[in-house]
Amino acid sequence: MMDQIDIQRQIELPWFNNSQKNLFEAYDNERLPHGIIIAAPNGSGKREFSNQFIKSILCEASKLKLNKFCGQCKSCRLFDAQTHPDFYLLDRLTDNKGKQKKSIGIDQVRNLTEKLSEMSQLSGWRVALIASVSALTRASFNALLKTLEEPGQNTLLILLSDNLQTIPATVKSRCRIIQPELKTSTLKHWLISQTEVNEAIAVQALNSCFNAPLKAKDFIQNNGINIEKAFYQLCDQLLLNQIAPHELNEKSGLDIDVIWRLLANYFYQVEKDILTGGGLQVYHVLPLKLPFQLYTKVLEVNRAQLAGSNLQLNLQLQAILIQWFEVGRKIAHISNS
Ligand SMILES: [Zn+2]
Repeated sequence: MMDQIDIQRQIELPWFNNSQKNLFEAYDNERLPHGIIIAAPNGSGKREFSNQFIKSILCEASKLKLNKFCGQCKSCRLFDAQTHPDFYLLDRLTDNKGKQKKSIGIDQVRNLTEKLSEMSQLSGWRVALIASVSALTRASFNALLKTLEEPGQNTLLILLSDNLQTIPATVKSRCRIIQPELKTSTLKHWLISQTEVNEAIAVQALNSCFNAPLKAKDFIQNNGINIEKAFYQLCDQLLLNQIAPHELNEKSGLDIDVIWRLLANYFYQVEKDILTGGGLQVYHVLPLKLPFQLYTKVLEVNRAQLAGSNLQLNLQLQAILIQWFEVGRKIAHISNS
């Protein structure tokens, strides 16, 4: 699954090729910045890319000119074993019940900046990776700023973000911002080579996953195409009043998180069908912009949930499903009278 990061194998991530080239060149010209933000949607390989980049920087075989890591030297082996003394990963801690905390505390950041100010143990770079920037509090960001303003020699701080807007301007202005090129034309070839699906399915999976390639690969491998199709049919049945709002959850057999994501895709798809004249006939007599409004609403709930808001997801979901059912009922009533 996506959360398990394979750090031993080199993975091709062609949408990062230009970013990698620029970073390698900056390194060779001794102009590598001390702060790098890698900004891309979840599931687009930020973590995989940064792991490979960090491993290359630490690799003993690429001391003079930066190259892909060798995988053999002491540094590479320590990195693979996740015991490299000059690499620090900062992430949310888990509490004593095994649940991940919502934020990265200021103590964690202070601890990290202290470590970064020490001498490197393998006489190379010291690199810190902050995997969930969205979990940094304002105070934590301020503590980081100090390191970005007065970085030690050969220290590098990499921040991963799926939403640049949540990063304070003072931090952004002190970092190089890396954004991969998530073009369908590049991504579909990669996806086809990884999964052996045909082009139409590759494009559909990319659409469903908002062009996040690793997510799309996961989606295909977990039968996402069929699951999505079945879910869309249920939503259509709801609109046609063939099932009741409370039945959709159970009939879909999906987790509520998945339902939210698919529901956004569904309304997006309906809106697209309306604009292109496709889909069910009933789509074309819906109140103008309704699918788009519902799409926006679902995204808002998704965002609030990601930001840690304690929403009653089931109630919110029912409200939207009822609205979809009711609009279908009204349309049927008008066309029957
Ligand atoms: Zn190496």
